[in-house]
Amino acid sequence: MEEDEFRLEREAMVREQIERRGIRDKRVLEALRNVPRHLFVPPEERRYAYHDGPLPIGEGQTISQPYIVAVMTELLELQGDENVLEIGTGSGYQAAVLGRLVRTVHTVERYARLAQRAEEILRSQGINNVFVHVGDGSLGWPAHAPYHAIVVTAAAPVVPPALLDQLLPGGRLVIPIGGPEGQMLERWVRKADHLEREVLFAVAFVPLRGAAGWSEGEWSRMGDF
Ligand code: SAM
Repeated sequence: MEEDEFRLEREAMVREQIERRGIRDKRVLEALRNVPRHLFVPPEERRYAYHDGPLPIGEGQTISQPYIVAVMTELLELQGDENVLEIGTGSGYQAAVLGRLVRTVHTVERYARLAQRAEEILRSQGINNVFVHVGDGSLGWPAHAPYHAIVVTAAAPVVPPALLDQLLPGGRLVIPIGGPEGQMLERWVRKADHLEREVLFAVAFVPLRGAAGWSEGEWSRMGDF
């Protein structure tokens, strides 16, 4: 398919899947119009890149549905000068969207192969404010903390304490909480003297692994019933 056709599909995606479902942040809509999602998916999935769902990206992982990327990004309430942390780089697509909206993005992926591929695509797009790290993002990424906003794109059993520690006052954390049988998207905001928690709506993500994530056994046992 030609680049022009992908552009038309991308504009239709933003109109029909994103705006129609209520996303209003103009900067988020503009970022989604400009990031070539088809380049972040494996070649054999490219023709489905603008469909209304997640897609496989290798290692048993997925690139999230476009609408979910849009909602999570809007919930971060980004103004332009933030330092943002993403846990779960996957394809690098969400990080590229964030990169258009803020000063710096640090994104952490546990699979080196996915991280390397994401990094290559980001560089080939001339995106130089997104930094990909390999490691256990359930511990956050202390080297570049604190963050104005943190987004986790894998489901955690509870909010990892390290992520709350690395959030600036006024900062927002968006994270799916739950297991294979169901998850809710949550937003946490660090207020002057307390943490505010909102439980938003049901989502379906792959598990967050690592020290503050799900172990293989726990996740599959829960998925059994
Ligand atoms: N944001 C991604 C994108 O735009 O393509 C989609 C991410 S995918 C739904 C979730 C990712 O989280 C997977 O790539 C998975 O390997 C990663 N992940 C799971 N546990 C992790 C951990 N503890 N640290 C870092 N990455 C983790």
